[in-house]
Amino acid sequence: MAGSGGSYDLVVIGGGPGGYVAAIRAGQLGLKTALVEKDPQPGGTCLHRGCIPTKALLHTAHVLDSAREGHHIGVNVEGASLDLGKAMKYKGGVIAKNAKGVEYLLKKNKVTTLAGHGKLEGPRKVRVQPKDGAATTVDAKFVILATGSVPTRLPFLDFSDPRIITSDEALQLKSIPKHVTILGAGAVGVEFASILSSFGAKVTVVEMLDRLCPVEDHEVSAELLKAYKRRKIDCRVSTRLEKAEPKKEGIELLLTPEGGKSETLMTDLLLCAVGRSPYTEGLGATEAGIKFDRGFAKVDALQKTDVDNVYAIGDICNETPLLAHAASAEGIVAAEAIAGQRPHGVNRDLVPWATYCHPELAGVGLTEHQAKERGYAVKTAKFPFPALGKAGILRTNSGFFKIVSEERYGEILGVHIIGPHATDLISEACVALGLESTAADLAHIVHPHPTLSEGILEAAHGLLGGAIHI
Ligand code: FAD
Repeated sequence: MAGSGGSYDLVVIGGGPGGYVAAIRAGQLGLKTALVEKDPQPGGTCLHRGCIPTKALLHTAHVLDSAREGHHIGVNVEGASLDLGKAMKYKGGVIAKNAKGVEYLLKKNKVTTLAGHGKLEGPRKVRVQPKDGAATTVDAKFVILATGSVPTRLPFLDFSDPRIITSDEALQLKSIPKHVTILGAGAVGVEFASILSSFGAKVTVVEMLDRLCPVEDHEVSAELLKAYKRRKIDCRVSTRLEKAEPKKEGIELLLTPEGGKSETLMTDLLLCAVGRSPYTEGLGATEAGIKFDRGFAKVDALQKTDVDNVYAIGDICNETPLLAHAASAEGIVAAEAIAGQRPHGVNRDLVPWATYCHPELAGVGLTEHQAKERGYAVKTAKFPFPALGKAGILRTNSGFFKIVSEERYGEILGVHIIGPHATDLISEACVALGLESTAADLAHIVHPHPTLSEGILEAAHGLLGGAIHI
């Protein structure tokens, strides 16, 4: 029998960016809240195995590349080289600082942290099993499931071989292999391609679909392919991995391009980055009556599952884009709904996405293709980065801003950016779409000079009949 651990208005299972944000919001709203987390610290995939560590390594890569190129602008850096041990230590320091910050915020908002694996024992009871020690059971008026996701492991790959890895292990590399093959050209795949190429590995990317980053606007994917070719990253799109056989001298891959002849490729490391799977192991959710669709929890617009007092947020939900900010936004909606407020559900069409490879990519709203599919009469405008004064200062010679609008009123339907700081620049587009702005609205807003943000202004002018600086 598990001992009694008290009772709460809300118990959140899982302390990633969905769960810990929901718990903080619930605490702010006066709910007696507990957060159950099985890992030693809160933060989830995002903080420990995802967003933050990859971006730290991408920053190391960026500084290294800048040092190598400094001579072009009068900065001579002799012998710039990678110290992987130090880079990993820096990455660890960033994680530790952020984890402490999350712990502080939970405390500040009077959230009780319960260490251990959480399991639903019916809709109003949660059993918490710590790694060592006895289990306790807590009573919960409401429960939020926020248990996130794990890397998808293709069944025909032998992950017992240390040379076949997922993103979790790629963040712990002790040395940089000569040749890495990355399976999957989604955000995770192309970010690791960027990091490992800057760190000196020869990188091959294998993607079954016909372009890199298949969720992006087609023109963005094409531009990234050009940029990666310039970086000598070998990109094989429309190519299927049939087999990966561990051999003494490496992993032997059998690759079949669509409509072409199979070929073998020897690689030192195979990084499987084919997506993420919802994590609900030992959660007791199905037994409690929660409905799932291909492993993902089914929820309504306010994140409620089929069981009245159980909500679900983040990567475990169907239709949620697997992104930290989507999980956090859903966490706020769920907490507010539970507290009796009347929040609006997250508008999934307006969740931006950002990929921090070099060059960076970001988008929000509809791609040109999606807008046409939805029946809009579409008008687009593109403005190239190199035409901006600030881009010249940064020595940027490629990339663009693209706005997709509907023809009649000029309402902006989507914005897509590839180039330096795209991941920050996209926020202005998020506001524009959120406020249902038109191209004319954007074009009349004065932007500071010289900045990269002028590219959005110029693209808006482009829609109205003429960008100025082209
Ligand atoms: P998670 O972050 O996965 O957290 C779930 C938590 O629940 C974990 O801490 C887990 O230990 C805990 N847990 C699970 N089951 C139980 C249980 N039964 N009891 C107790 N605790 C449990 N997204 C972005 O927006 N931007 C990025 O740049 C970005 N980069 C990424 C890079 C990589 C390499 C990866 C893998 C992902 C990246 N993501 C990024 C995606 C992002 O990390 C996830 O979308 C986000 O973490 C999902 O949040 P979540 O709260 O739903 O789940």
